[in-house]
Amino acid sequence: MKLLEYEAKEIFARSGIPTPQGGVVRVPEEVEKWLNLPGDRVVLKAQVEVGGRGKAGGVVITEKSEAVLKARDLFSKTIKGIAIREVLVEEFLPIQKEFYLAITVDRSSKGALLLFAESGGADIEDLAERDPRAVRRTLLSPLVPEVPQFMLRYLTGKAPKEVGQVIQALYRVFREKDAILAEINPLASTARGMVAADAKLIVDDNALKRQGIAVNRDLSMRERVAEENGFSYVDLAGTIGVIGNGAGLTMATLDLIEYYKGSAANFLDVGGGAGEERVKLAVQLVAENPSVNVIVVNLLGGITRCDEVARGIISAGVSQRVIVRLAGTNEEEGRRLLAERGYEMLGNMDEVVRAALEVKG
Ligand code: GDP
Ligand code: MN
Repeated sequence: MKLLEYEAKEIFARSGIPTPQGGVVRVPEEVEKWLNLPGDRVVLKAQVEVGGRGKAGGVVITEKSEAVLKARDLFSKTIKGIAIREVLVEEFLPIQKEFYLAITVDRSSKGALLLFAESGGADIEDLAERDPRAVRRTLLSPLVPEVPQFMLRYLTGKAPKEVGQVIQALYRVFREKDAILAEINPLASTARGMVAADAKLIVDDNALKRQGIAVNRDLSMRERVAEENGFSYVDLAGTIGVIGNGAGLTMATLDLIEYYKGSAANFLDVGGGAGEERVKLAVQLVAENPSVNVIVVNLLGGITRCDEVARGIISAGVSQRVIVRLAGTNEEEGRRLLAERGYEMLGNMDEVVRAALEVKG
């Protein structure tokens, strides 16, 4: 789960990483409370969980006299389609130089990947593409509790020594918070030393409980309900709702939709042995996505009984067309029940997917 900048900064600050002074506001007038920050200017920063806010107009540097007005402006905007509910008000930092620092998970070596560049800031992606060697990297085994000095020296190069302490502290945060990404861009060199002008922290979804995070904010309402009920559920961008049992069959159904140039709106894996109630809930959840104009149910009856599945589909009673492929235990009974209620049950998944693609929405 992605933390917001101000949440990440609080954590960084507690680990000894210098951060700018300031605080978060939820209405423009509250900005007044922060006008006693040092300097004539303040920075207003939209708290949305997307990168590139600066370029999207989400970071505003303003004279204090205009700060409330500018905050009103900012609150009325959306950044990459996301509404702004919170704005971080911070002292304006006179930045001498911007560095880039990140620690992420390297999947192939199963370790931490440390990245540092002597020219950071909003254009770091361009730099990484143009001159990959400008971003120094080093891999660290997760068993090593702190970054060895020789690695710090290699990473920081000619940058001030102090950067090493920031890297060390960020690595501690990375480990303690079960992060999959901890990033400071820019790490700003100022007259009073290094300051984390921006902060990004993504906690591994599988570690949320251990981190005391009760709700995964990155999940949609539907994804949350699905998770609570033990379904694997994902929202996508297309129009076909997909229900399968088992990751293999569900993925194969998605692949087939893709093969015929269709696109799924979502998919849900009901898992093994789903009875009427679970199937009903699954169909209703998938149907709830407003982009779904037809639902493909592709289930293999083993411990899952086809008659139970049929009852679940019928009692879900959703408005979209539901096209079904059921094979296995009690298949005939399932077919009979569905036919009685006018549901289509086709012979194989190829037919089901092609039938779904004919449905116009
Ligand atoms: P991002 O675009 O979402 O990564 O947001 P950042 O917090 O990184 O802000 C974007 C850019 O605004 C930074 O790269 C800085 O160059 C600039 N910026 C943000 N805060 C300050 C500040 O206090 N002083 C100065 N001089 N520049 C700032
Ligand atoms: Mn940034």
